[in-house]
Amino acid sequence: MKISFLGAAGEVTGSSILIESKEANFLVDFGMFQGLNSYEKNMKDFNFDPKKIDFVLLTHAHLDHSGRLPKLYKEGFSGKVFSTKATKDLAEIILYDSVRIFEKDKRIGLYKYEDVLGLMRLFNCFNYGEEFDFKNIKIKLRDAGHILGSTIFEVFVEGKKLVFSGDLGNDNAPIVKDTEFIDSADIVFVESTYGGLIHKKREEGVEKLLLIIKEVIQRKAVLLIPSFSIERTQELLFEINNFVENKYISDINIFLDSPLAIKATKIYKEYKNIFDKESISIIDGGDDIFDFKGFKETKDVKDSFKILKASVPKIIIAGSGMCSGGRIPFYIKQYGKDKNNVILLNSYQAEGTVGRKIENKEDIFINEVRVPILAEVEKIDSFSSHADSVKIKKWVLNMKPKRIFINHGEIERALALKEELKDSAETTLAELEKTYLL
Ligand SMILES: [Zn+2]
Repeated sequence: MKISFLGAAGEVTGSSILIESKEANFLVDFGMFQGLNSYEKNMKDFNFDPKKIDFVLLTHAHLDHSGRLPKLYKEGFSGKVFSTKATKDLAEIILYDSVRIFEKDKRIGLYKYEDVLGLMRLFNCFNYGEEFDFKNIKIKLRDAGHILGSTIFEVFVEGKKLVFSGDLGNDNAPIVKDTEFIDSADIVFVESTYGGLIHKKREEGVEKLLLIIKEVIQRKAVLLIPSFSIERTQELLFEINNFVENKYISDINIFLDSPLAIKATKIYKEYKNIFDKESISIIDGGDDIFDFKGFKETKDVKDSFKILKASVPKIIIAGSGMCSGGRIPFYIKQYGKDKNNVILLNSYQAEGTVGRKIENKEDIFINEVRVPILAEVEKIDSFSSHADSVKIKKWVLNMKPKRIFINHGEIERALALKEELKDSAETTLAELEKTYLL
């Protein structure tokens, strides 16, 4: 069998692995490249024939894992896409949103609305724990605990057991269950986003969030929270819901101004059956974990102006997570100049993004207008939805694999993980477009 990495080799975006076996050819994910030179990388012609791909295993909906799938369809792929139902539902809103973004761009888009529509018809969905055969290949889905619907795939092909991690979740994250451990594998393909790094405890972040909100209420200020639409926003709502229901905070307006996050939250509500025990017990107690007193969703752009008029104190959660798009720039322009207000960054801010400038308290430009950041800038870095190095190592070694391929990590991180695993198995760093024979 031949294995080639078509993305996420030495970086964290464009996730894709091509497997060519005697039984069938398949891809694990086909994500979009993001960041530097991504437009060219996404537009590049494929070095394989999409018509010869029998199926795709989609580990989860995030754009960096699903974002090139409609292009695959456009170029002739007509096989099947296997995933959980939650992944399918989330991928659908993410891919349509990406078409909306292409339409705003002056350059040629990667695909159109009808390509997403066509792709969605190819999905076949399964539950966690389910096992099925396709073209003499046995496939099993396990919970990765990264975002709603995220999956680890176990694949039995040519007498070998391959395990694909997708993105592995962080322990103790709310809503989703913890990552499932698997007890054996011949070859493991593992992500390395946090290779060599250890996360802070999540509770520290939750405590800090509460302190910041209390302070904002006291100062009658505005708290801006840039947030990713899928998983992070729902986790923030989960925590704030707990604060409100337990009466740790009151008398504050909380707005969610992100159409994508609102759609995603609606999808989350349909999948209580795959939530973790804590969330289920809160829901069974009669509470909606994503709704509480003072909370409002903003669907229309016109409503954004109503938020400006709403009385203080108030919290505004909006995309994007790194402040490079979405509606958060609109609010930063309004409220970022006032030192009484607070901007709370709760995820990694990549170099070159508006969020990184805010982190450094540099002036930013919004619609060519200079906006000095005088508001207080706070940071929580324990809300990661990825496993840290300690967990990845434990998860991999539990399977006692003979061979390990490391992908989905910047070189430094991937090398750090290799260092930790190299004594246990033959360990290879994925190289872009290189083919390995197994
Ligand atoms: Zn992901």
